Amino acid sequence: MLAMDPSRAMMPSGRAARSSPAGSGKTSSGVDGVGNLLLARLSPEDRAHLEPRLTPFEFRLGEVLQRPGEPVDSVYFVDRGLLSVVASDRNGETVETSMVGREGASGLVAACGVGVPYMTHLVQIEGAGRRAPAALCRGLFQSSAAFRDIVTRHTQHVLAETRQSAVCQAMHSAEGRCARWLLESGDRAGCGDLVPLTQEYLAAMLGVQRTTVSAVASTLQRAGLIRYSRGRIRILDHPGLERASCDCRKAVKEFRETVLALT
Ligand SMILES: [Zn+2]
Repeated sequence: MLAMDPSRAMMPSGRAARSSPAGSGKTSSGVDGVGNLLLARLSPEDRAHLEPRLTPFEFRLGEVLQRPGEPVDSVYFVDRGLLSVVASDRNGETVETSMVGREGASGLVAACGVGVPYMTHLVQIEGAGRRAPAALCRGLFQSSAAFRDIVTRHTQHVLAETRQSAVCQAMHSAEGRCARWLLESGDRAGCGDLVPLTQEYLAAMLGVQRTTVSAVASTLQRAGLIRYSRGRIRILDHPGLERASCDCRKAVKEFRETVLALT
């Protein structure tokens, strides 16, 4: 694993999470490639209750949105971009256990539960979304069966991805895991085949050394599957990268589409 304390290394400038200027965030809730898919599935009643209290929000690289043990005051719905949920040990070594993209929200599980997250949530790919007061989501969870169903499904997906991550890290090659991560990121961040990511960040998310990521990226590039330059990775051969990915990619993707009713 890589030594990296997300509360420090991922926020070099000490930036705080912030709202975007009014009207600057994407606010579409459609399912056409832009907008948060969880919000898109709200019942009309729940949407009428929640949407007036949503605030446009910009996700800036490295910002920490939730910290272990600190009360959750906001839930962040992702319209575009990608958040990582990372575990760290007392030495500051980190590894990603799950991610949050357009299919989900950061802080939702904790807000509707005991109000305190277990892991760090930080911005992995910049983007935009909407922020809701945690108390509002908690109240809706208590009053609306339809909202409880959405939150339960979201929780089940997070659990599945976290558990699959344990399998992935213990049993699969760095090349297969890297291919999986790139595909998942492209799907869930809404960034298509251009994944804005440095090798340093990718190493931290996969829990491997940067030299390992560099070697894997070179292998995938020589095979014509990706092109890496200046902190951006472009997927050139999507089917080929799917074949290079470990089995976790297919298993989690299919479960996500089922449990979140994305198809
Ligand atoms: Zn795997």
